[in-house]
Amino acid sequence: MKKILVTGGSGLVGRHLKEILPEARYISSSDYDLRSEADVRKLCEEGWDHIVHLAARVGGIIENINYPAEFIEQNLLMNTLLLKYARLNGVPRLTAILSTCIYPDVFDRYPLTEEDLHKGEPQKTNFAYAIAKRSLAVQIDAYRQQYGLGYNYLIPCNLYGEYDKVDEKRSHYLTALLGKIIRAERENRTEIDLLGTGTPLRQFMYGGDLARAIKACIDSEIIESFNVAVDENRSIREIAEIALRACGKHDFTLRFDEVSPDGQFRKDVSNARLKRLLPGFEFTSLEDGIRKVYEYYKEHEIV
Ligand code: NAP
Repeated sequence: MKKILVTGGSGLVGRHLKEILPEARYISSSDYDLRSEADVRKLCEEGWDHIVHLAARVGGIIENINYPAEFIEQNLLMNTLLLKYARLNGVPRLTAILSTCIYPDVFDRYPLTEEDLHKGEPQKTNFAYAIAKRSLAVQIDAYRQQYGLGYNYLIPCNLYGEYDKVDEKRSHYLTALLGKIIRAERENRTEIDLLGTGTPLRQFMYGGDLARAIKACIDSEIIESFNVAVDENRSIREIAEIALRACGKHDFTLRFDEVSPDGQFRKDVSNARLKRLLPGFEFTSLEDGIRKVYEYYKEHEIV
């Protein structure tokens, strides 16, 4: 059996992966601080066949605007140390996770493909995070080129899932939206206030789908890097409308504040390479995924 290590094991993606790959070892920052050279050295000395590198300093727009120094410093440190000691300890396979929000902010053709990653500046609001993630891509490609290692990265679109952070300041858009719906329901309100204009376009994927793509990558020994994203690219408003339907809130209305920053207007990526590498890979529909997460939040009284 392969000896697999998953960093970021306590996060949204890590917990989804654990459901379908329970035999791997899952670590969080309380086990090993990946910014510490001593910790990373010790961790990699244990000897692994495959490292899935999920750990990152991540956050929403406001956090990215307020803490850019932390985003670049912590991510560069974690990624550099982990790759360095993985290689020095002969780890043959490593799969890291980037994000579609690091692609060029504006481009002359959509959907973006994997070749477009460095062809333009990322969005201003998450510039530091994006540059750290792009550096990880460069570092992995360099390790493949110089050391011949089977290291790769997956680039997922926006995620949501049962295990996302739910506090309003840090959570991602769909998780925050579900929190607002549940709170409104509890307080007998039918109006949902959302930030921005509702016009930006997004691909939203259920976290369990990314976990299945990671597992397939390990099982099939895939060493190419590829985007992991759903086919549909919908407006924020349309996604909110689908969420209301999925939660059975047909009488609810949406109100956008029109002044808060919208973030990147669009960043839809092609999933053609994924379809070639993993033929028959199916995504969870947005409505089904949202319903699952909504029911989980209510059942576990998470909001
Ligand atoms: P998450 O829920 O925020 O979890 C982050 C994980 O990283 C946690 O396990 C955290 O451990 C760990 N971590 C943070 N700092 C660490 C440190 N210094 N040392 C060791 N571990 C540390 O993240 P996620 O949403 O699962 O994201 C996983 C990956 O997918 C990330 O690389 C992210 O950039 C990428 N991604 C996420 C999304 C999304 O929408 N969620 C979209 C695209 C890409 P603690 O719990 O101990 O803090």
